[in-house]
Amino acid sequence: MENIFNFNYINSFDTYSYISLIIYSLVLLSLGSFASSIIFRISFNIQNKAEKISIIYPRSFCPECKNTIKLINLIPVLGFFFQRGSCSMCNSKISPFYPITEISFLLFGMGVAYVYGLGVFSFFLLLIFFLFYLLFILDWKFYYLPFSINIILVISGFIGNSFFNIFVTDISLFFNLSPFLFSLYGLLIGYFSLWIVNLVFKLIYKVDGIGGGDFILFGALGAWFGPFALAMILFLGSLSGCIFFLLFRNKFKYQIPLGSCLIFSSILYFLIKNVELFSFLLVL
Ligand SMILES: [Zn+2]
Repeated sequence: MENIFNFNYINSFDTYSYISLIIYSLVLLSLGSFASSIIFRISFNIQNKAEKISIIYPRSFCPECKNTIKLINLIPVLGFFFQRGSCSMCNSKISPFYPITEISFLLFGMGVAYVYGLGVFSFFLLLIFFLFYLLFILDWKFYYLPFSINIILVISGFIGNSFFNIFVTDISLFFNLSPFLFSLYGLLIGYFSLWIVNLVFKLIYKVDGIGGGDFILFGALGAWFGPFALAMILFLGSLSGCIFFLLFRNKFKYQIPLGSCLIFSSILYFLIKNVELFSFLLVL
């Protein structure tokens, strides 16, 4: 059964014309730009409870002077340099987060296209990267995992596995699981395992130990990577949580962004599964 882990074929760019690669790069930069705009708008709504803005309206504006940004300055990466890193109206600094996000999307997208080609695997990896990026930053900054983004992650996991077998491993054959059940058990086990941990915590300490968004996120990771991956992801997530805590002790004095840790560990899990050298670490 072909899945993303046994797709051992470096595609390289030989089969694609320059034009299609240029168009693809522009799509990637725009995706990065869209991601940073969503993060900006959700952050804005969290910090300004009085005036809420939507994902698409109003047009992008400077957070300092509130002036609408000229279209030419909205061009990914270049816009930042046109304005020399500060707002053309009020001169306040623009965060390098924007061009960094756009360039990350370009590099990641080029990387997956190089390995998997411009096909269904690259499409779903880009989608996961997009959703992971949003969730990671928002949880890191605000301990906030938006329900809508979590749900998109769940649904796309079901679609990716049920129709394209993306992360369905051979172990599911052994248990006679169809790709749909692979995602369903992943979702249920992921969601309820953290829910039960939190219930026990709550009975002892009388407060929630884990945020509600974390249950859904872990369920979504289950829907993507399947029930057999969850223990490994949780283990690596706790480990990275400890490391984040040590590295950023001042920021995370009272609470660790569990969602960011789980996303980080899912990426680790994916990389480890892909590297044959470490395959002995994974029994499943
Ligand atoms: Zn300004």
